[in-house]
Order: sequence, then C-alpha cells, then structure tokens
Amino acid sequence: MVALASRLIRIFALALSMLGGIAGSLDLARAQGVPVASAVDLQTAGELTRLVFDLSEPVSVSGHVLAAPDRVVVDLPEVSFKIDPGKGQGVAPAKTGNRRNQIGQMQGAKPLLGAVAAYRFGLVAAAKSRIVIDLTHPVRIHRLLSEPQQGGKGARLVIELAKIERSQFLAEAAKSAQSKPLMSSQPTPTVEPSALPVVVLDAGHGGIDTGANAPNGVLEKDIVFDFTRNLAARLEMGGKVKVILTRDTDVFVALGERVRRARAVGAALFISVHADTLSNDGSVSGATVYTVSDRASDAEAARVAEKENQSDILGGLDGSEDQGDVSDILFDLTRRETRAYSHVFARTLVGYWQDIGSLNKNPHRSAGFRVLKAPDVPSVLLELGYLSSRNDLASLTAPQWRDKATDRVARAVEGFFMERTGGVTKAVTDR
Ligand SMILES: [Zn+2]
Repeated sequence: MVALASRLIRIFALALSMLGGIAGSLDLARAQGVPVASAVDLQTAGELTRLVFDLSEPVSVSGHVLAAPDRVVVDLPEVSFKIDPGKGQGVAPAKTGNRRNQIGQMQGAKPLLGAVAAYRFGLVAAAKSRIVIDLTHPVRIHRLLSEPQQGGKGARLVIELAKIERSQFLAEAAKSAQSKPLMSSQPTPTVEPSALPVVVLDAGHGGIDTGANAPNGVLEKDIVFDFTRNLAARLEMGGKVKVILTRDTDVFVALGERVRRARAVGAALFISVHADTLSNDGSVSGATVYTVSDRASDAEAARVAEKENQSDILGGLDGSEDQGDVSDILFDLTRRETRAYSHVFARTLVGYWQDIGSLNKNPHRSAGFRVLKAPDVPSVLLELGYLSSRNDLASLTAPQWRDKATDRVARAVEGFFMERTGGVTKAVTDR
C-alpha cells in the first residue's frame, strides 16, 4: 500500500515536471554546479526589514536602489531558486479552492511585511541572477552579505533594509542610476542570409519575470516557452520560414531587447506569445490577438498592455526605456505600412484560430505594447488564453490542445507569407 502510494506520488511528480516541459528540464540541467537557494524568510525588527535566503554556498552580492517605482535590486551570480515564486507575491502555495487570492499577482496584492511589498528572484541574463524587492516605503540597504551558516552546512544571504527619508532615498537612487546596471549581456543572434522570411517568436516573460501564476502553480513563462518551442519546431518542419527565438531558455529579456533582436535579424514577422490572468473574473476566456496602437481599442486591452509593459520594472531595470521615436516622413510611412501588415496578420491568425474554437469575444484588440513597437517589423502579441479561466488553463496545459493550436498558428504564418508574395501586398500598401 505504502509502496503504491509512493509510486503514485512519483508518477504525479513526473507529470508535474512534464507540465513544466523543456523549461523544467533546462532548469534541472543548469542547477548542477550552481548554488541553490532552498528557503526564504522575511522578518521585521523595529525599523528594519530582513529578507534571508538559505543558500547551498556563499555567493558574491551587490545591491542598489531604484526609484519610481521604488525597488531594491540585489545582483548575484547564477543561483537556482528552489522556492515557490508565489512566496514573494504573498500568494499562498498551490491548493484547490481559495482561487481569488492566488490569481491576484501584483494587482491588489497586499504588502508582505515591513518595507517589502513583494519580491521576485530569477535569472536576468546568462549566468546572472537577481532579487528585486518592491518597497512600501523608502529604505537604504543597511546590510547585504552572504556568509556560511553558523555551525551548519550551507550559507545564507541577508538583505537588511532600514527605513529612511524620501529625499535620502532619491539621492541614493540617482547615484545608482548613474552607474547604470547591465541590461543584458546576451549577444544579438545572427542569421545566415536566407531566401526564406525570418519569423521571430518571442516567448513572453522569463527568468525573474514569471508572468502570471495559475491557481495550480503553473507559470505563464513556462507555458508560453513550451508553446513557442513547439511552434518553432512546427514552422521549421514546414520549411517555408526561418525561425529565431528571442529566448531559448528560462531567462529574463528586456522588452526593448526583444524588439532589437527582431530588427537585428531582419524579421518579417514578430509574434510575442503570452497567457495572462487579466482579472479575478474566471469567466473571461479565449485567445486574443493584439496589435500596437497609440490609443487602446478598449479598457481591457489597455490593462493588458500596462501589465505587459511592466516587465522591465519587474526585472529590476530603470523603467524609462529609450523611446527613440524619430519623426520623419519616411519613418512614418514605414511604420504605417508595418502596422497595416500587423493588422493583416492579426486577422489571418484570428481566422485560423477559429477552428479550435476558443476565441475571446473580441479577438482582435490593440494597445500601446512596448514589445510590438518595432517600426519596421509587423508584430502581434498572441494571448493564448487566460490562466484565470478554468477552461483555458485546462486547454493550455493539454499537449493535444497545444499541438492543434501550434498547427493553426503555423498555418496562419505560412498563409500570411503566401499572400504577401501573391498580390495581397499591393492592396495593403496602396491604401
Ligand atoms: Zn504575459
């Protein structure tokens, strides 16, 4: 009986790890030889707030503060965090029932304790991990160290924050903004010149930015990574386009960097894949295709864009991205043409997706998504569904559904390029 139970548990664990898919196995592979963080504890003592991580060994640490929104950023070498990301969001560990506060993530989440509203941890670049703490009030980093545990194995990382005046905090933040932290050390991908159109697939979120949390503990970053890898494989097999991924592992990539990569490889199409929770309303469901616009098509689109545009802030970057908006006529023409193609592809995609049924009641929407702002690359953001919807979550985690959906998106991509080379091109640009 006991043996059977333990076997069942093992099978269940295996199934869970398969849900994590490729991202999970990459994490496992990487964890070898990398320090492991196994537990975290948050305490207050008077004006001090202390966040302590248990580590397998001491690591080198450095920290700085950022304003607007107010955050503490702690940089580390690569650390494998074996800690539920929900802990830092005040989200209870996965269990059934009690849906409401588990889907909260960011919106309406209550401050955790003392100076800490919430915190996140994970990779921000190859071999670089980071902890980002959202603050409830201004602090200075009072103590930041990593030391061996007294009388035991392993080590601990101590982050101690002391309350200070706002003016002092702003002065500190200005200092750290000057010595700007590294955005991303990853090289821009290069592609061999190819007769085939280049499609850039962008798995949303990654690393320290987990994206949305499903009630059962499934993370958006893993679901979309898995989907994107499958889509890439399907498109490569079709042989009609060349595929480049903006991330091929569980790592944070800044929004501007995703756009830069697409432009650097001369992408003819950019698809950013997501699966968010929008609200606590489990009845909102189905896929939505977003294009960029200066003014949002509706309030819901505006909220989704606002949430997606937070990614850099979650990753501990200075939120003020170079806007780089050139205003000359040639640029405007290019951008207008690009937006027309983005619309054509969005409509094509919605058309193909209809076969599998699960479309949002208003499936093509638009808003000011930063990741869609390449002026010369037709770009869409595909929300596969909502993790807050029971039906969508069931679909998104089912391999059969994923394969079918992947196939529809691939056909839409192939159909889009077939039409572009076949005469529809003219109709669009002549407008
Ligand atoms: Zn997302």
